[in-house]
Amino acid sequence: MPGAQITMWNGVIKMASKSLIKYRTTIASLGCVICREYLNEHTEPQLHHIAQGSGLRSEYFICGLCPEHHTGAGGFHSSPRNFLRLYKLPTEYHLLELVNKFRARDNI
Ligand SMILES: [Zn+2]
Ligand SMILES: [Zn+2]
Repeated sequence: MPGAQITMWNGVIKMASKSLIKYRTTIASLGCVICREYLNEHTEPQLHHIAQGSGLRSEYFICGLCPEHHTGAGGFHSSPRNFLRLYKLPTEYHLLELVNKFRARDNI
């Protein structure tokens, strides 16, 4: 299988390695981590890059957020501070705790 193109944290479209594609597929398969944690629902996610805009970003710091929880009115990008407070996340990196929890639950 040839590589596939991905949109990176900085918006640049780039060929990604097979291992990164596989990683992204795994994270997406978990669904929106907020819907899953708070509504017990599995919704189709977009991939959110954690700490986008800061100096600490990585293609391996990603989590699934549905359109509403990602860029919607009450979503992360509308107000990161309010979003983190509402969902009791001490820092944005705690989204990775939800990712890890659901990966453990799904055994992936
Ligand atoms: Zn959601
Ligand atoms: Zn995002």
